[in-house]
Amino acid sequence: MICLGIESTAHTFGIGIVSDKGKILSNVWDMYRPASGWGIEPIKAKMHHEEIKNKVLEKALADAKIGLKDIDLIAFSQGAGLAPCLYVGLNFGKELSKRIKKPLIGVCHQIAHVEIGKLCTGVKDPVTLYVSGANTQVLAFAEGRYRCFGETMDVGIGNALDKFGRGVGMDFPSGPKIEVLASKGHYTELPYVVKGMDLSFSGIITESLTRFRKGESLENLCFSLQETMFAMLTEVTERAMAHTGKTELLLTGGVAANSRLQEMLGIMCRERGAVFHTVPKEFAGDCGTNIAWLGILHQKSKMKTKPGILPRQRTDEVDVGWI
Ligand code: AMP
Ligand code: MG
Repeated sequence: MICLGIESTAHTFGIGIVSDKGKILSNVWDMYRPASGWGIEPIKAKMHHEEIKNKVLEKALADAKIGLKDIDLIAFSQGAGLAPCLYVGLNFGKELSKRIKKPLIGVCHQIAHVEIGKLCTGVKDPVTLYVSGANTQVLAFAEGRYRCFGETMDVGIGNALDKFGRGVGMDFPSGPKIEVLASKGHYTELPYVVKGMDLSFSGIITESLTRFRKGESLENLCFSLQETMFAMLTEVTERAMAHTGKTELLLTGGVAANSRLQEMLGIMCRERGAVFHTVPKEFAGDCGTNIAWLGILHQKSKMKTKPGILPRQRTDEVDVGWI
């Protein structure tokens, strides 16, 4: 069985093709980049996705060296995400499914990030730290679902980094640029906001931007943002590992590409005798490949999903039948 996955929840339109054996045949995507000083505008992101969807499809098929007729299943990211963007994936999925007369299923974007990490690293039952643009969650499987042990109370960590970047004149996405500048900075204290198992990032960003405007060094602020926010993530993740007794950690989502975050979690795992895994960089951010793989898992386990788009879908409301 070969599944074609469509990703369109926010900034990225992607198509990936994966076999039921977990062989990744292609991973093609294109990112909408807001004008300098702007965040993601849903309607502009939607227009971007509409414009490039056919080109992305053609390249994904060409890379996989197959035709549409070889596809057995189509999966699309049904949520969580921005409604105008989600509709592009749903409608493109419907169109392709009609054209080749193959089933279409909607799958959960967040769980796709977890499952691609498991496929690529071979880890079986980890605590997962899922850090992306809109999401920050500490997850672990228990009794049929991915349960959320801790999460952000406001913005996702990626969006927080991007907001800081926007405020200091960096282009989107700012996470990688902040990482480069951080390597030249020194520590300056910022608010550290952990409440029980939950985290808050927005106040840290407001404070950092205020101090930037007052003339504080950008390098020092980038370094300290990373140190502070990643330490918060590490603290909560370690507590989830202690609570669940799980001995493996999986880091996934776009911010998983950050070397300093990987380093801090790696040290934490080593100190408690646990094993640390990171999703490969090419599958860290949004892409269609993780959607295709989750489509395969749903189909194999005969797990039904809801029809249509689910902009506010929560990770812990999805029944996971393949574990
Ligand atoms: P996703 O929504 O999963 O595609 O992740 C996108 C987010 O990852 C954006 O907010 C980026 O700024 C962030 N990101 C990507 N690379 C890095 C990095 N090296 N360090 C920190 N954040 C990053
Ligand atoms: Mg994502």
